[in-house]
Amino acid sequence: MKVKYVVVGSGLAGLTIAERIASQLNEKVLIVEKRNHIGGNVYDSYNEDGIMIQNYGPHTFHTNDKEIMDYILQFTEWHEYQHRVMSYVDGNWVPMPISLETINLLYNMNLSEDGLEEFINKKKIKIDEIKNSEDVVLSQTGVDIYEKFFKYFTIKQWGCSPAELDKSVISRIPFRKNRDTRYFTDLYQGNPKGGFTKMCQKMADHPNIKILLNTDYKEVIDQIEYEKLIYTGPIDYYFDYKLGKLLYRSIRFEFETLEMESYQPTASSRYPQDHAYTRITEFKKMYGQKHHKTTICKEYPCFGDEPYYTYPTQEWKELASKYHDLASAEKNVIFLGRLAEYKYYDMDDVIRRALDVFKENFN
Ligand SMILES: Cc1cc2nc3c(=O)[nH]c(=O)nc-3n(C[C@H](O)[C@H](O)[C@H](O)COP(=O)(O)OP(=O)(O)OC[C@H]3O[C@@H](n4cnc5c(N)ncnc54)[C@H](O)[C@@H]3O)c2cc1C
Repeated sequence: MKVKYVVVGSGLAGLTIAERIASQLNEKVLIVEKRNHIGGNVYDSYNEDGIMIQNYGPHTFHTNDKEIMDYILQFTEWHEYQHRVMSYVDGNWVPMPISLETINLLYNMNLSEDGLEEFINKKKIKIDEIKNSEDVVLSQTGVDIYEKFFKYFTIKQWGCSPAELDKSVISRIPFRKNRDTRYFTDLYQGNPKGGFTKMCQKMADHPNIKILLNTDYKEVIDQIEYEKLIYTGPIDYYFDYKLGKLLYRSIRFEFETLEMESYQPTASSRYPQDHAYTRITEFKKMYGQKHHKTTICKEYPCFGDEPYYTYPTQEWKELASKYHDLASAEKNVIFLGRLAEYKYYDMDDVIRRALDVFKENFN
């Protein structure tokens, strides 16, 4: 078989670059996908009760990048939705991320923004050099909040203490001094009407794009004559793990459909003190779907086969960097996306990255 471009993987990275090649260069692209569906981890589907679920964990789209929003709106109508998360702490529900509302509810106070500043300043611990995620939280909020919200949650989420994790892991969670209880503050938020899979199908719906599902690219690549490979699978797998296997944190998802209209006050709840699971998602609340039953999903982080989160410690960054050196010597291959770059990307980031890679390499 002869085709100019082969894309490995049909997640948002692979689909975006394939769509650009097909529509802007008017060239043929073959996408090879090992799963039995397109969309990668944003794949969603209706379960047996007709409730839309996200099969690989809860996803809410959010961005401040108008160009990205305009790009995806070519392929879908939009369901506007502001994501809210409640945390179950000391037997009460409080909003996450931590805000003025959270502190007032937690300590039964009625502080103003100035009062909060004063309250937190008294709790903060002075740390001269912030080295890890534990230092980040202790220096911003002190021991009590660290233990209530972060310490055990992180141990569940990553299987290690925040003190062992890079400071970037927890610095991503904002601590708000105001009353804004939204999880994200981006200008554009929500999800595609009809779901992410439908949007992905529309992205792939071009006469220049062919998709081969249920196929690991290594099974077929020797039989294809191509000019360029865009690889969005795991970088260590591409090199047959020759420098060793990169570590990922995985998740076991447990779905339950309940005979009730509503299970919890917000789409997502977090459990930083109790239970082995970290969070529960109620999908209907994200999609705005009406149904007399509801489906929830409990997340149990673990080390398993399915790679979800790149592991944020120095050891794995260094190994990934050695793989990046090998990758930069590969002719005619572009490594793109969260697995091929061994980097956590939000959905808007990965689309931005794919659009930039397209501009840099194909014009
Ligand atoms: C639990 C969880 C929740 C998230 N929530 C959010 C959120 O709320 N908001 C947000 O913006 N982002 C979120 N993200 C991030 C989002 O999932 C990623 O930005 C996005 O999926 C990255 O797309 P990708 O194409 O790089 O990777 P993927 O979606 O993983 O796509 C890679 C594709 O390559 C295929 N593949 C791999 N190896 C091979 C092979 N050998 N041969 C053929 N095909 C192969 C895979 O099957 C997969 O389909 C979340 C991530 C996780 C893990």
